[in-house]
Amino acid sequence: MNADTVFALASGAGRAAIAIFRISGPDSASALTALCGTLPLPRRAVVRALRDTNGEVLDRAVVLWLPGPQSYSGEDSAELHVHAGRAVMDAVADRLAALGLRAAEPGEFTRRAFLNGKLDLVSAEAVHDLVAAETDAQRRQALRQLEGALGILYRDWSDRLRGALARQEALIDFPDEDLPPEVEADLLASVRSLRQEIGVHLDDRHRGEKLREGLCFAITGAPNVGKSSLINALAERDVAIVSPTPGTTRDAIETRIVLGGVPVTLVDTAGLRDTADPIEAEGVRRARARAAAADLVLTVVEAGSPTVSEPGSLVVVNKSDLYPERRADVLAISALTGAGLPELRDRLAAEATALTQSSGPPPLTRARHRTALVAAARWIAEAEDAIEPELRGEAMRLALRALGTITGQVGVEEILDSIFRQFCIGK
Ligand code: GDP
Repeated sequence: MNADTVFALASGAGRAAIAIFRISGPDSASALTALCGTLPLPRRAVVRALRDTNGEVLDRAVVLWLPGPQSYSGEDSAELHVHAGRAVMDAVADRLAALGLRAAEPGEFTRRAFLNGKLDLVSAEAVHDLVAAETDAQRRQALRQLEGALGILYRDWSDRLRGALARQEALIDFPDEDLPPEVEADLLASVRSLRQEIGVHLDDRHRGEKLREGLCFAITGAPNVGKSSLINALAERDVAIVSPTPGTTRDAIETRIVLGGVPVTLVDTAGLRDTADPIEAEGVRRARARAAAADLVLTVVEAGSPTVSEPGSLVVVNKSDLYPERRADVLAISALTGAGLPELRDRLAAEATALTQSSGPPPLTRARHRTALVAAARWIAEAEDAIEPELRGEAMRLALRALGTITGQVGVEEILDSIFRQFCIGK
């Protein structure tokens, strides 16, 4: 339990009608009483005058008293819904500080919720993802994770491994007892099937992580084929410079759009041609690097030029307005007139969905989880190969530890710091 009581503005910056202060910690009740006279009934929204030390009314606010442990953080908490004027917010923050409350660190409310057992680390991370979600698909994934689906999967694996470790320890502690001979074979079979399940979960082409982070589609092609025009048309705004002079797009230009509920960064690459100009050459080098790392490469060619087929890339034939005889077997568009763009957009949305959609169990969503799972699978493999019972037991313990860091069953302070630092203040 934390000894200090913290407060933060939980609502965002920018003009708004209402701002919400969150308070959490043992002094919540006394701070609330000092501010608004008496403590409201638990979990009932009431309108109260918030007063300064000298009795002056600072604002009239909707106030909530949220006693622990039935609160978000598990501690005694309160919320003040004040008018979102700068002067009101400053006055209320000053008053809370004067009452001895401390401004909360980023993610501190959720960190306290985790420390009080209100949610596991995987769900805490989902809170962050839900706040950051830009699209429906991201929101759904974060919500599913917040509701515990992923945490349940990881805890189930921990429980099974712990069961196997208990049997292994029995083999170590009672080597001379007449333990049934199948004990060892059974436990080896169970850790092997666990390792295989982790392997299937890891072998997901990073779908969940890609949905969380967004995809990257690179647009390449010879100078002047209409790459910038295409980006502008897809983004429905002018993000790239369109010019009739070849080689004018020197740097990689990025723009973020939503395709099939997935955020996608489109990268407009410099004209991929060999050049003596060092600045343009650098543009070409970066373009090649981006295209190499992209989830999808769109190669734009001009209608009328010889057909190209780029392995692993989607070929789009632009300027089809100049060539009325449209070919049915290629993605023919005109960035100028908009012809073929709805079809191209549908096709790209389908690609984005295929790259991020996963059916069945909840997908892996974070590199942190992946690293821990890879380590766990490696230790399990070591346990399977170990001949000495003690070494097998030790490898299993290390695997269990790696799994425990994912949900936070193994509390490691540095992990907590690195996770909650990414949160916003007030969450
Ligand atoms: P980039 O160098 O590949 O980025 O090409 P730009 O987008 O800068 O376009 C080069 C030139 O082609 C510009 O003059 C555009 O107006 C023109 N252009 C682009 N798309 C089309 C199209 O679909 N039809 C026609 N007729 N011209 C186009």
